[in-house]
Amino acid sequence: MNTNIETLNNWNLKNSDRPIIIAGPCSAESEEQVIDTGDKLHAIGVGIFRAGIWKPRTRPGCFEGVGSVGLEWMNIVKKRTGMLLTTEVANVKHVYEALKAGIDILWIGARTTASPFAVQEIAEALKGVNIPVMVKNPVNPDIDLWYGAIERLHNSGITKIAGLHRGFSGLSKSKYRNDPHWQLPIKLRQQIKNIPILCDPSHIAGNRELIPSISQKAMDLNYAGLMIESHNNPDKALSDAKQQLTPKQLNNLLKNLIIRDKKAKNTKAQESLEELRVKIDEFDDVILEALSNRMEISKKIGNVKKENNINIIQANRWNNILKDAMEKAKENGLSEKFVSNFYESVHQESINLQNDVLNNS
Ligand code: PEP
Ligand code: MN
Repeated sequence: MNTNIETLNNWNLKNSDRPIIIAGPCSAESEEQVIDTGDKLHAIGVGIFRAGIWKPRTRPGCFEGVGSVGLEWMNIVKKRTGMLLTTEVANVKHVYEALKAGIDILWIGARTTASPFAVQEIAEALKGVNIPVMVKNPVNPDIDLWYGAIERLHNSGITKIAGLHRGFSGLSKSKYRNDPHWQLPIKLRQQIKNIPILCDPSHIAGNRELIPSISQKAMDLNYAGLMIESHNNPDKALSDAKQQLTPKQLNNLLKNLIIRDKKAKNTKAQESLEELRVKIDEFDDVILEALSNRMEISKKIGNVKKENNINIIQANRWNNILKDAMEKAKENGLSEKFVSNFYESVHQESINLQNDVLNNS
């Protein structure tokens, strides 16, 4: 995408130093809850207040949000504290209501990002209104859908767009509610120039305990900010009770967050980093050359198999290679998971190449 997406510096946010902190309840529930939470978050220095007004629940019958009256409560928070406001919009009606209420930043939820029709309608409703929009990743790990939603908004003239990483759902059981798949947001950032990425540790974690370590990881990966669910009484929350922090817990998290610089401040450290990077680059070259040589041999094996009509897959041999590799991994202090993933990938490429030899040449 040839974009003119603006960096966060142009968003005119208060407290815009990295990391941008957005916090507030999963859902606005009552005037008292919204105001009390807002006051407490302001007191710990949060600059942007979030609250869900219309809740896209996976199943009917769950709490589906208080609706537009919640926008009035959010505005009371803004008047009392000066915090900027953000909420989720999932259709054109939400867009009109949120704009009318003076919401400062919109976000598109994970279920909506997965639906190109819905995103297109929202993008069209936003034509001529260059309001900042954060786009959550889709529920499924499909980076093209995420990219496509951003593209639709951008085509409507929105230039203040951020990716909001909330993890991806999958079939396999994991310690996360939504698996982070950290490589996907990194890929998005490589594909779209300037796009800021924020992390939503609450929806990745699904529980309070994991929120701090996910937040730290996002900072280590140079994310622009965090959106964390915070409620004045999380245990009584009507939605996502387990993954909301009290403002006090959030304050603790923020105080312990280590923000690393892009570059080392001291020149000696910077020099030694650069020296180490040169060494890494050299090793990467050696690995690539070795891989290329290895694949050439795979092709030769493919030719021998073709001439002699032998199967590509030789399960015994593969099992022995893997077993051997696991032992060597241990001896060399490498993680077995890493080495087995690497070998699986090399093996798959070998099979593909031999398949080409057997069938196409
Ligand atoms: C939310 O932020 O409360 C929400 C519903 O998030 P998601 O779209 O990531 O599920
Ligand atoms: Mn939520």
